[in-house]
Amino acid sequence: MVKCSFCGRKKSETLMLVAGIDGHICELCIEQAYDIVQQEVDQHVHSGESEEIDFSKFTPHKLKDHLDTYVIGQESAKRFLSVAVYNHFKRLGSPTDDEVVIEKSNIILVGKTGTGKTLLAKTIARFLEVPFAIVDATVFTEAGYVGEDVESMLSRLLQAADYDVEAAQRGIVYIDEIDKVARKSDNPSITRDVSGEGVQQGLLKMLEGTEVNVPPQGGRKHPEQKMITVDTNNILFICGGAFDGVENHIAKRLNTQVIGFAKKDEQKIDRDNLLNYITHQDLKSFGLIPELLGRLPVLTHLQELDAYTLKRILTEPKNALIKQYTKLFSMEGIHLHFTDGALEFIAQTAIDYKLGARGLRSICEALLTDAMFDLPEQAELKEFRVDKKFVQDKLSSSSLISSAA
Ligand code: ADP
Repeated sequence: MVKCSFCGRKKSETLMLVAGIDGHICELCIEQAYDIVQQEVDQHVHSGESEEIDFSKFTPHKLKDHLDTYVIGQESAKRFLSVAVYNHFKRLGSPTDDEVVIEKSNIILVGKTGTGKTLLAKTIARFLEVPFAIVDATVFTEAGYVGEDVESMLSRLLQAADYDVEAAQRGIVYIDEIDKVARKSDNPSITRDVSGEGVQQGLLKMLEGTEVNVPPQGGRKHPEQKMITVDTNNILFICGGAFDGVENHIAKRLNTQVIGFAKKDEQKIDRDNLLNYITHQDLKSFGLIPELLGRLPVLTHLQELDAYTLKRILTEPKNALIKQYTKLFSMEGIHLHFTDGALEFIAQTAIDYKLGARGLRSICEALLTDAMFDLPEQAELKEFRVDKKFVQDKLSSSSLISSAA
């Protein structure tokens, strides 16, 4: 009697039986065999992935070109970030049994709030098509205290990766406000520093690379909760912070250094841009522990945004604000036009009222909300022109400026 040589079902019990030289196979066994083959192939592809990374797609030049389309200025930070990410990929592709082990190139970005630190990290993650999570260092406390454990950042990454552990393990975590976990004072005090140094200690292993048991939903661990093991070896960590007042540490260090040197050296120091000279030493003086700094080998800084840069931010990035409003207006059949004078005035207002790049959006809203309210009813209008006078008039009556003043 003809039957499936794999499961033994009779011909009458199957939809079809495919005949081979010395036996038959039914449709169900074909499906099952296909699944087994597919799983093998997937596993093979994943395990071989590290050797097959195509570096040429992510050269520093290509990474920086991509960053240029979204982030204005910040040349030095973009170059450092591009090289660090490129080296990170090379590290992923390098054989692990080699004598020379390439260390992780975790990054620390120093720059005032609103200068583009998060934007840089986000933009690079999007380009690399890897899971990306933003976490705030201020919510963490040392394990066992009220607050979140540092491991919870991996839960966020897992969520961003749709719980694909493999993908999460190649992701990028941006830890914001790392300066807020600086050691509170130089002497190891009687009271424990659970939200400062304690957190820094907690970060050490994770930044270096270790296996961490992560509660899938984040927050505190519950004994009954099923844990997911995440290996952080190939996760790139980017830390960012404003480090308000770090300039004082830089100035102090530079002053002590110039003693004994020719006056000429001293003149070269640009006192207005002390961040240009920042080193790990200054972050240590600020209160980051040397062990943590050792795990953040790439240090770079972001410049404060001047009026010229803010004006460029309004118009140049791929999804620049003015481009967005122009699109909204064009959907009504109206050509929106900003004069140069208007753009300069908006940028200068953001500086004067310390609104920064984030404030540009609120300024534009204050300028254009009335127009956006009325225009859909004014079918005859074909152009809407925003000049300096229009901006001055609108802003002088806006609550935005009076509340910021
Ligand atoms: P930070 O993380 O440094 O506090 P963000 O990256 O969150 O600042 O920046 C806030 C917003 O300001 C960004 O979403 C972006 O719209 C804008 N922005 C800041 N800096 C830049 C920049 N250099 N180029 C383009 N946009 C910027």
